[in-house]
Amino acid sequence: MKPVSPSDEPVPGDDVPFPRPHHDHDHCRHDALRRAEDVCARQGARLTQARREVLDLLWADHRPVSAYDLLHRLNADGRKAAPPVVYRALDFLIEHGLAHRLNSLNAFIGCAHIGGEHGAQFFICRECGQVAETRSPEIDSAIRTAGAELGFRVQAPVVEVEGVCPTCSGAPA
Ligand SMILES: [Zn+2]
Ligand SMILES: [Zn+2]
Ligand SMILES: [Zn+2]
Repeated sequence: MKPVSPSDEPVPGDDVPFPRPHHDHDHCRHDALRRAEDVCARQGARLTQARREVLDLLWADHRPVSAYDLLHRLNADGRKAAPPVVYRALDFLIEHGLAHRLNSLNAFIGCAHIGGEHGAQFFICRECGQVAETRSPEIDSAIRTAGAELGFRVQAPVVEVEGVCPTCSGAPA
């Protein structure tokens, strides 16, 4: 894993550090939507309005969101979208590598990297709930090797790790 200086802003396509409290989140959000449009254009998929809205809601901040909360937020303006609208949009986003499901939280988060199905490590802060996603080829290959020794073919080596983020642990900025 590459060392990341704490003052760095998230770099798309690279390890994304824990977001600092006052970072330019509009940038994260716009960047995520722009990358989603690129991915869909390249894969000939349609980023419909519902899919775009759900993705935007996932990027409201760096915390995972449950499907129930997504539906609630989607209908905040008095709309009456039904749960399948949210589930179908999430399936699409996950299938296209634009979002992940965090099994330990039964919640969803926008992918900080984008690029098809990939292994990832999620570092989940138990204090503030923020999540950072990294992609370590060393961890991926360690998991694949351990799987191979069992005769197990690993598809997506995803690891969810609980702990305390730099902001909550008071690490110097
Ligand atoms: Zn952000
Ligand atoms: Zn990802
Ligand atoms: Zn935290």
